Amino acid sequence: MRTEHHVLLPAHPGQRHELVSLHHGSPGAGPKVVIQASLHADETPGMLVAHHLRSRLAQLDAAGRITGEVVLVPAANPLGMAQWSLRTHQGRFDQAGGENFNRHFADLTEAVLAAVGDTLGSDAVANAAAVRRALREAAAALPATTPLEDLRRTLLGLAIDADTVIDLHCDGQALLHLYTTPATWSPQGELLARCLGVEVALLADRSGGDPFDEACSMVWVDLASRLGPAKPLPPGCLAVTVELRGEHDVTHELASRDAEAILTYLHHRGALQLPEPPVLPAPRCEPTPLAGSIPMHAPHGGVLVFLRELGDRVRQGEPIAELIDPVTGRASLVASPAEGLFFAREWRRFAYAGMAIGKVAGREAVRSGALLSP
Ligand SMILES: [Zn+2]
Repeated sequence: MRTEHHVLLPAHPGQRHELVSLHHGSPGAGPKVVIQASLHADETPGMLVAHHLRSRLAQLDAAGRITGEVVLVPAANPLGMAQWSLRTHQGRFDQAGGENFNRHFADLTEAVLAAVGDTLGSDAVANAAAVRRALREAAAALPATTPLEDLRRTLLGLAIDADTVIDLHCDGQALLHLYTTPATWSPQGELLARCLGVEVALLADRSGGDPFDEACSMVWVDLASRLGPAKPLPPGCLAVTVELRGEHDVTHELASRDAEAILTYLHHRGALQLPEPPVLPAPRCEPTPLAGSIPMHAPHGGVLVFLRELGDRVRQGEPIAELIDPVTGRASLVASPAEGLFFAREWRRFAYAGMAIGKVAGREAVRSGALLSP
């Protein structure tokens, strides 16, 4: 095992932020998998899963059981970890500039085309190898002036040539769910979903905003479509955002279960060999379109009372929550926007007007444009 320390560019003299990555196995020996925790720094479950993975990977590495390359970034956002305001952790947005930490990752399609587009031929395997090299070089050449730009460049540099990227996040309160792309759902995405036991799998191509996972995966899809059938290119990277339930689902029991599930995936993916071949669990859901996951918003401010529980199947128009304005006594029902599974909701119980308070996953793709919340 090798530990790398990546010191980020400081915003001002004397500032120092460091990103740490733990490297197991050998580059090129087999599939490369990158697992990173808590890019939104106040989403804690991923960091506990990484803590459990850390010791298990060290054991497996010491036993010579890593057959590919496994990179673990146990705390992906040293900038956000330090952002506390009035006793509250603020981890989603960079306080220096207001940007969401998981947006604006570089699209390297043009850079790769310029570097190797003319050299590719009819051999898909050779094309993929050339594209991986070009991706590494393009990520390393990204400009960065601020700590945030340097963080994005560093994270992308660690993951851009990977076969699998697992980005561990969480929601407010939620069932275990994931986001990935249609091109990589079968068989790899489905395999990871089964290992984890996710209850909702949301598929989209570019969902808007350039999140980390899509920067790693969609570049392959976009390159393939630009290169055309004469220069074939596989969807070379499964990148998945895993939402490890809710912010407060931080227990050793859940984290150790999730870590073992990731190890089961790594075993089936060929990145490592567990001493006892793990059983592949049955799938717990069929994938549904991200464009069918519909957010609900508070019509006015007030006390938020949920009338339905997470995991409930709901019909369109069915009341999910009630908002009570304690000043006027006004009470309003918030109805389900679709028929589907009530799978995520806000953890706070006081809402401002327009606040997103929950999501229902339906089967029909009815939304378009930017599909992720700000
Ligand atoms: Zn997140």
